[in-house]
Amino acid sequence: MNTITSLFGTNVFSDSVMRERLPKETYKQLQRTMKEGKHLDNAVANVVANAMKDWAIEKGATHFTHWFQPMTGITAEKHDSFITPTDDGRVILEFSGKELIQGEPDASSFPSGGLRATFEARGYTAWDPTSYAFIKGTTLCIPTAFCSYGGEALDKKTPLLRSMEAINRQALRVLRLFGDTATTAVKTTVGPEQEYFLVEKEMFDKRPDLIYTGRTLFGAKPPKGQELDDHYFGTIKTRVAEFMEDLNQELWKLGVLAKTEHNEVAPAQHELAPIFSTTNIATDHNQLTMELMQRIAKKHGLVCLLHEKPFAGVNGSGKHNNWSISTSSGKNLLDPGDTPHENAQFLLFLCAVIQAVDDYQDLLRISVASAGNDHRLGANEAPPAIVSMFLGSELTAILDSIEKDEEYGTKEKELWKVGVHILPRFPKDSTDRNRTSPFAFTGNKFEFRMLGSSDSISGANIVLNTAVAESLRQYADMLEQASDFNETLHTLIRETIRRHKRIIFNGNGYDEQWVAEAERRGLLNLKTTPDCLPYFIKPKNIKLFAEHKVFTEAEIHARYEILLENYSKILNIEALTMLDMANKDLLPSYSAYTKQLGETIAAKRAALADADCSYEEERLRQISGLCGRMFRKTKALEESLLNLMHQDVDELGKAQYYRTQVFGAMNELRIVADEIEGVIDRKFYPYPNYGDLLFGVR
Ligand code: ADP
Ligand code: MG
Repeated sequence: MNTITSLFGTNVFSDSVMRERLPKETYKQLQRTMKEGKHLDNAVANVVANAMKDWAIEKGATHFTHWFQPMTGITAEKHDSFITPTDDGRVILEFSGKELIQGEPDASSFPSGGLRATFEARGYTAWDPTSYAFIKGTTLCIPTAFCSYGGEALDKKTPLLRSMEAINRQALRVLRLFGDTATTAVKTTVGPEQEYFLVEKEMFDKRPDLIYTGRTLFGAKPPKGQELDDHYFGTIKTRVAEFMEDLNQELWKLGVLAKTEHNEVAPAQHELAPIFSTTNIATDHNQLTMELMQRIAKKHGLVCLLHEKPFAGVNGSGKHNNWSISTSSGKNLLDPGDTPHENAQFLLFLCAVIQAVDDYQDLLRISVASAGNDHRLGANEAPPAIVSMFLGSELTAILDSIEKDEEYGTKEKELWKVGVHILPRFPKDSTDRNRTSPFAFTGNKFEFRMLGSSDSISGANIVLNTAVAESLRQYADMLEQASDFNETLHTLIRETIRRHKRIIFNGNGYDEQWVAEAERRGLLNLKTTPDCLPYFIKPKNIKLFAEHKVFTEAEIHARYEILLENYSKILNIEALTMLDMANKDLLPSYSAYTKQLGETIAAKRAALADADCSYEEERLRQISGLCGRMFRKTKALEESLLNLMHQDVDELGKAQYYRTQVFGAMNELRIVADEIEGVIDRKFYPYPNYGDLLFGVR
């Protein structure tokens, strides 16, 4: 498309811009920094900064910011202008190498889990030169990592870069054993598919629950939901299409290759998928995508909901993390290839993923844990909370035959031998049909489907990269010592399948029987965030992260605390919002309706002594009764919050209390309130209802 080629990357200080604008020598030095992680010296940084500033000013930028991803989940920026005063009272436009490389935001209000003592409020941000600078509005954004002065990571970027380094180190060792001397680096690649809802801004603005919590805390089901499946892949409404086009254009300018867009299963639900890129860039781009979705929706009078479960009773939103491993020459290591040699290497990398997912099920579950995502995982729409893998029947049959040293297929007369035989080609279609699996092999990549729609993809990829690095480390240790490489390789693969095949499940993940079966297999079923978070600080997990230099023990504890605290805070805000809505809008409204019914009965009787008031009387009795019950549920929720103040509990105990006591009381309140909504005069419902929200965009 013409627009793409002319717009693509126009707001990015990309490789081609650098090549054009930087002196040859500077460009080469910067390349070395990017490719090999070499230190960037000040003189070079100054030249780069100056060229970046000139380019940005030509594009209309007036400010610059270090753009980073603190533990809040959203991105942060602090804008400084290019203006520097001179001695003679004028101003000049300046941007130094020092300002490019390092920033010192006053970071005391970002969560640090105790890593940054309050007296040392400063953290620093450091440029990640592998992710290009870009312009957003009138600001030059420099993607950075965010650390404390002690060097501890305070963000989602630093550990991600460390995990990429970990898998690079171990994968290179393995490739060398297969005789690959050409590959200089191994990187993981990610293509995240992003789901979201669009609602009318006018209606959104009238719902305190959407405003404060991103999801509806009350709301009876409309007569029509998603049962007809008529929205999925259906025609896109004009206003939504206009939003999507606008969004695409803005994303293309930022170098984000937004490619497909379609309606999703629930009414008002949509999806955007980009073409995949290197994991750290994909992470930056997904953050930008979420930010732009929200900003551009507003321009179109819409609001983009990224919450995992904005509406009860219809599907929630997730994010599919398509993940693979690629060499510096662009070869996909999860592609089976065509020769016995390529196949053997593929099988080893495949085993590395199988083992990683089995050994670190808990960490994968934790990497997608949040109060919002708890509503999805395990519900009949999203992958279950049990982590398992789908490989498809062909590949599973081959692994079976390797494990049992049996023949594969009918044509094969010999035993299937790693490194001797050729794998059959798996058509993509036959590998991609199971939509219920949390972790599916889709021909040449894995699709991790448990992520919530508002999650940063960084957490999931930190775990994936590190866990796979650990399998590869074990394999490299063993194979480097082997006297007969092929024989050791065959045994290694067979043993890995034997030990980890319990994680492979090709059946229906939504099936009740799977829960029992998974339990028999010894797989974890960690249903909620407070259930899974304690696994984060298990010795085996601390060891994994520490050995691969991804997190120190202190960093893990800090993150554990932040996640728990965050969970409790979200539930607290939700509970308070419910009370506010129930006490100030819903109960008064419902009560006013009973007054109207009473007045109607009186008026009818006055006019007609034997008037039939059975409708009004029955409703009055029903709604009065329900209102009384709803009021008592409101008191119970208030009490559950008050009781917490008298509990002597740590962060985990607090999160567990919110989960069981507060969340339980919230659900009970909602059930009664929604029941009343179902029988009330529409005019007395004080908010736009589910029908308005889900079918309101025309
Ligand atoms: P679908 O899942 O809708 O069938 P695809 O499988 O083609 O679509 O792609 C889904 C996502 O996976 C896209 O974002 C795509 O860029 C990404 N993807 C494709 N190949 C890879 C890869 N090697 N590594 C990471 N992501 C990939
Ligand atoms: Mg997909």
